[in-house]
Formats: sequence, C-alpha cells, structure tokens
Amino acid sequence: MIVMKFGGTSVQDSAAIERLIEIVQRKIELRPVIVVSALSKVTDSLQNIANLSFRGDLKSALALTESLQKRHIEMTSELLSQNQAYLAKSLSQIDDYFVKLREIVGVVNILEELSNKSMAKILSFGELLSSYIIYRALNNSGVKCAIADARGFIITDDEFLKGEPDYNSIRELTPKALNSALEGNDVVITQGFISGTKDGLNTVLGRGGSDYTAALIGMAMGATEIEIWTDVDGVHTTDPRRVGNTRSISTMSFSEAAELSFFGAKVLHPATIQPAIEKSIPVRVLNSTEPQNRGTLILRDDKITSSGVRAISFKENIIVINIFSMKMLNTFGFLTKLFEVFGKYGVSVDLISTSEVSVSLTVDNDHNLDKLTQEISGFANVTVKYDKSQVSVVGKNLKETKGLAKRIFGAICEHNITMISQGASDINVSFVVNKEDLDCVITALHKEFFE
Ligand code: ASP
Ligand code: MG
Repeated sequence: MIVMKFGGTSVQDSAAIERLIEIVQRKIELRPVIVVSALSKVTDSLQNIANLSFRGDLKSALALTESLQKRHIEMTSELLSQNQAYLAKSLSQIDDYFVKLREIVGVVNILEELSNKSMAKILSFGELLSSYIIYRALNNSGVKCAIADARGFIITDDEFLKGEPDYNSIRELTPKALNSALEGNDVVITQGFISGTKDGLNTVLGRGGSDYTAALIGMAMGATEIEIWTDVDGVHTTDPRRVGNTRSISTMSFSEAAELSFFGAKVLHPATIQPAIEKSIPVRVLNSTEPQNRGTLILRDDKITSSGVRAISFKENIIVINIFSMKMLNTFGFLTKLFEVFGKYGVSVDLISTSEVSVSLTVDNDHNLDKLTQEISGFANVTVKYDKSQVSVVGKNLKETKGLAKRIFGAICEHNITMISQGASDINVSFVVNKEDLDCVITALHKEFFE
C-alpha cells in the first residue's frame, strides 16, 4: 500500500478536491491510505477563533467561525450537488461539528481560560471537517472510501499541542484500524496533524504535522511509498521565487533534504519524515496542480549514489557574531566558556568558523542577543553584524568533489564574503554575504551549477 498526503492548498476548494479525486482514482490498485490537512488557512483561523474568544472578543470569534462554516458548506454543496441525499447528510454532520466548536469556544470565553488541551481540541476541527467532506466526495465519485479517526491510532503523550508519538502504540493500533477500514473499500481516508493520548484525549502533532502523520502511518503499515502532495513540483534547485530557470530535483537523499530545510527551503520538514526514512520508505513530493510531473523522490542516504551539488539554499536576516580575544592564543577552555554563555541564554548557533584568536558564528534571530553579547564582552571583544544572508551549497560528498571551492567562489568573486563554513556533515558548504548581494550570488551560483 501507499500513503498519499494532501496538504492544505491541495484541498483548499472544490476544484482542488476534484483534482485530488482524479489523482486518487489513478492509484486505487495501490490501496492508498489518504491523509489530509485542513483546508488552507483553516488551522490559522481556528487558532484566531480560540484566542479571540479567550481575550473576551466572543463576537469576532463567532463571526470568524461563521465564515469558516460558510466556506465548508459552500465547498460541500459544490462537490455533492448531484446527490441531494448525500449532501443533506453531509451538511448535517458539518453542522454538528460547528455546534460543538461553538460550544467549546463559548466555554473558553466564559471561563477566560485557554489551556493547550482546549486549543488542541479546537484546532482538530480543521482536519475533522476536511477529511469528512473529502470522504463524502470520494464516495460520491465512485471511489469506495472509508474514514478512520486518527486520534484512535496516532497515539502521543499529553503534550497537547506537540504530542510526542508513541511508536509502539502506533505500530500496534494503526494497521488494526486501517486494515479493518480498508476491508470492502478501495481506499481509506484519515486526518493529518490530529492525534490522541492512550486515554483518548485529543492532541495534535504540532503545526505542519500532517507530513508527520503520513510518515508514521507509512512506517506502521510498511508502505511502499509515501506521496506528499503540495502546490510545488517537488524540491527545486533553488527557490523559484528568487531565481529563474530553477528545476525540480528528481532524486535526493534524506540528509540533503534535511540540510536544505535547515538552511531555508520550506517544502518539507525532514524531521517529520524520519520515521519513513528509517524504514527505508521512499517519500515523493508532488504537485497536485500538475500531477504528471515526477516531483522529487527522497531516499535514505545509502540509496543515493550520485554525488555533487544538488541545490542551493539560503536564509535571510541572519546575524553574524564575531568574537575576538588575544586570550585565546595558546590557551584552552575558551570555547567552553564561550558556548556556556550561548547555552545559558538558549541561543542556537547555525554556522561557526574559528581561527586561533577569533570565532565567527551566525544566529537567525536576536532572542537574548543583548544579554549574550554583554556577558561575552566581559572576557572578549564582540561585534554583531545584522542584515546578512547565509548561502548553502548542498550535495552529497562535497568534500570529495574536486575544484568545488574554485567553482563556488569563482562564480561569486565580485562579492564580499563575511564568513565561510564547511559542514562536518560533508553535505554543505555555507557562507555569509551581505543582504544586498544575495540575489546576485544565488543567481550566479545557480548558473554555475545548473544552467
Ligand atoms: N493543518 C495543520 C497546520 O496547518 C497541519 C498541516 O497542515 O500539516 O499546521
Ligand atoms: Mg501544511
């Protein structure tokens, strides 16, 4: 079997759902388990509704709830207009969900209390609604589809808004739930993102968690492939919004995908597909508006044989911290002292490079930065440079790629480079440039390696 996960934009309206149905119909013989997100932006709206109500603005919360309900009703009416009986049944279920949602939102307002537990419950309505409507739409179009409630088998601890999956329970319960749902049906649909504790309390996996659900199900079911349907045709050689002539990468390793996302690409968070990759299940990122494109296939590292530059990623608005001290010369313990300060203030470092008397590093936000620099200036000179951009050239076996540095720095020789760091992971060469040079730099690098 395979897992097919459709993200928010791939289920955002009735046209998107018609496309989903066509995509699923072509895969029926593979016994797909379909995982869906809430319609695009719905989780954000639900979060707003909860917060508004908590802050005392019940009126706005209810108005927003009303418009959400309208959107779901309209979509359902468009999808099921040919089948009045079906439509009536579905509208009544949607109505039930909204009655419940309003009840909870009302309680939050009265008690002026919004626990993570209540928030998880409220956020879950997005996926409950989308999965239900798509379940009806699939059946209406002749695909025999069952629906399974993910809260009964995606089991987590009671960290309500970022539940930690309990692999053993998931491995045990998921095949039971999904195989029995599949009996006598072509496909089964379930919700991404939402989960439950062993005691049946509603949790969620954290924002963007649907990919995680897909990977957990893939792992538990021993899927042959996991398809992540999005609105871009896979992972690109660099961000297509910034550079022309990019193309999607046909195959890449999990580590490369991880490196790309740490360094700015937003297609997929690799931590969320880890359970699949560990079991060596291929993950394919596909475009639901252009389903004929092959997308990007992500495989376990040992399955990838080709090396060389795979992609260029970048991160903007980073901050470079330079630390200089003559006391570092021929002594030891300086770095320990330095990083203790970073640890103390919870500041996470991205890139680092050192010399005998200096350390340069980058951070991607200014959280606790004042306190940090003040404390470091007690034993070293510190300067902070804002408005920098970090560029990473990512690919397998970069260290073994002869002449790579010449190609990278030759291509961008007109621009100043603030710092350089080659990751020990052997999978990226990263450097920092001025903000205003970024576009030129990534365009030149893309030309050098991909055009
Ligand atoms: N609907 C959830 C969110 O927006 C989960 C997801 O889409 O992956 O965060
Ligand atoms: Mg998403």
